[in-house]
Amino acid sequence: MLVLAGTTEAAALALELHGRAGVEVTSSFAGRTTRPAAVPGAVRVGGFGGVDGLASALVDGGFDLLVDATHPFAARMPHAAAAAAERAGVPRLRLLRPGWTAVKGDRWLAAQDLADAARLVGGLGVERVLLTTGRLELSPFAAVAGVHFVVRSIERPQPMPLPDATIVLARGPFAEADEVALLAHHRIQAVVAKDSGGSATAAKLTAARAAGIPVVLVRRPPQPVGPTVATVSAAAAWVRARS
Ligand code: NAP
Repeated sequence: MLVLAGTTEAAALALELHGRAGVEVTSSFAGRTTRPAAVPGAVRVGGFGGVDGLASALVDGGFDLLVDATHPFAARMPHAAAAAAERAGVPRLRLLRPGWTAVKGDRWLAAQDLADAARLVGGLGVERVLLTTGRLELSPFAAVAGVHFVVRSIERPQPMPLPDATIVLARGPFAEADEVALLAHHRIQAVVAKDSGGSATAAKLTAARAAGIPVVLVRRPPQPVGPTVATVSAAAAWVRARS
């Protein structure tokens, strides 16, 4: 099977299935980070070259199944995967963890996209904001005046489009106590996050709730239609039923 990877779920699925019950897993990474997470099985890195390239890779690689376990904010790949799998005649499953749900005490503002998030931040009247949207998605915030951004990312933003920013390099999962300390240390007054869901990066929401500060939460891009599961175990069951 081919797993479109780049998430903790993709790595967990490869760990659960590779070498078991006749399943051989190849994990595919886009190559956004210089060192992708270690996974069992074969690994390939880099784009396929659109729908045509992925459809050819499925056929040429002799893949029987495709699991699209890309990130909820991967906007293009799930649609390319759907089209390529159909063209190649390979069954496809989308593994998509659920988004987060607000609880009592949360002060969330829903943003349609990053530009909308930047607009909302500009209207908050705050001066210090934690930005966790990723190093490749900073430019919409460059136009926000009077705000010092603390940018947390896995790798250093190169170039850095924000004129007034501190960079914190870190890779999740993040513990709640550390998130509380981060907000306090940088005197953060608001957090910007993508609605990624899952537990690895949820502690910033709990910390923001405890601090009583708002979270600008960017909604997910639309997903293709087709079979979708929310958990690694459900994806593993789907694979086992077909292998
Ligand atoms: P995207 O907009 O959906 O993908 C852009 C292009 O990157 C795709 O058209 C494809 O190139 C290539 N690509 C994406 N995922 C790939 C994979 N698993 N294997 C091989 N090529 C892949 O996605 P993105 O937002 O740039 O994210 C890139 C990767 O980072 C994804 O795999 C995703 O799981 C991971 N990630 C993204 C986020 C996020 O917030 N966006 C967060 C954490 C991890 P071709 O058209 O050439 O095939």
